[in-house]
Amino acid sequence: MRSCEVIIVGGGPAGSSAAWRLKRAGADVLVLDRERFPRLKLCAGWITPEVVRELEMDLDDYPHRLLTFPRLRVHYGRLSVPVPCVQHSIRRFEWDAWLLERAGAPVEQHNVREIVADGAGYVIDGAYRCRYLIGAGGTRCPVYRNLFRELNPRAHELQIVTLEHEIEYDWQDRDCHLWFCEQGLPGYSWYVPKESGWLNVGVGGFAERIKSAGQDIKAHWAQFAAKLDGGLTRGARYDPAGYSYFLRGRVDVVRRDNAFITGDAAGLASRDLGEGIGPAIRSGLRAAAAILEGAAYRLDDVTGMSVSSIARSMLSRAARPLGPHGRRRAGNGGAAHGLRHGNQ
Ligand SMILES: Cc1cc2nc3c(=O)[nH]c(=O)nc-3n(C[C@H](O)[C@H](O)[C@H](O)COP(=O)(O)OP(=O)(O)OC[C@H]3O[C@@H](n4cnc5c(N)ncnc54)[C@H](O)[C@@H]3O)c2cc1C
Repeated sequence: MRSCEVIIVGGGPAGSSAAWRLKRAGADVLVLDRERFPRLKLCAGWITPEVVRELEMDLDDYPHRLLTFPRLRVHYGRLSVPVPCVQHSIRRFEWDAWLLERAGAPVEQHNVREIVADGAGYVIDGAYRCRYLIGAGGTRCPVYRNLFRELNPRAHELQIVTLEHEIEYDWQDRDCHLWFCEQGLPGYSWYVPKESGWLNVGVGGFAERIKSAGQDIKAHWAQFAAKLDGGLTRGARYDPAGYSYFLRGRVDVVRRDNAFITGDAAGLASRDLGEGIGPAIRSGLRAAAAILEGAAYRLDDVTGMSVSSIARSMLSRAARPLGPHGRRRAGNGGAAHGLRHGNQ
């Protein structure tokens, strides 16, 4: 049986941030993930300046695709509003693998199934033993399932269903677009360009409300794809896939003895925009700090709303204009379009 001080189940943003913080403090930590990285993660890949700051990312040194938006384009009915704020897009396929490697912790490919509390620690599938356990396995995290589900049942009214596809596409409009409540969708659709000719488009909304309105996410997708074909992404071909996750509700218990839940495992995505990467990172860092410092693991300062972050970015954008625009950078595949970044 392999023993170590901390085992992290899941190597997404929550798990890799916790591993990064723990490793930097010299802890004996192991990450288990059922996938081999780089792995596909369905996600639009929009990240905020807070994420960049918390991860101490140097945007100039980031070796993969990163595009900075000087504005978001928000659409509601016939209203179309440019929101000047600085946000970024990355490809999760690349970024997650980069974060995990940067964390410097050993990673083993293992599909975790059974977790048993054993004395002051935990035994995983009869093969791994640890004193501290961090659940960072996303919506279907086995740490949540084994140790927390009964304490924090999922709030089904906060379940989001999505359909999306990330494709290589020679996009011409470099803004990030969000369409709210189109055709009665209780949610929004998105167009998120990535550096060097990649693009993520998708639809997402509240599962229960879509169902009770007699609607179907696939029908919303079809309408959205037709709309894109009529303008922004003429001729693009999509084969979308779906994933489901939970917005932040009451999360009563996030620590149980020496076990913690973080990110989507705890259901922390923001209530307004379904932003889950920032909360995943913040909770991963907080769990690591709780282990290292013997401090309480609290999520009160992990915000449940994204608009506050966008408002902050608008204000700093107004106070400090972007750097040089229109920088082109040769990338891997597709035309190079992008302003890579101005500032955060
Ligand atoms: C379509 C879509 C678009 C989104 N767009 C955005 C966006 O643009 N910006 C944003 O901020 N958020 C977005 N989100 C939310 C965001 O993707 C998640 O909130 C975020 O990935 C959560 O990170 P995490 O580390 O908690 O979980 P994940 O990123 O899901 O990582 C969990 C890891 O655990 C592993 N794992 C799972 N089960 C096991 C097991 N049994 N054993 C071992 N390993 C396991 C998985 O392989 C995975 O690597 C989007 C979500 C969806 C579905």
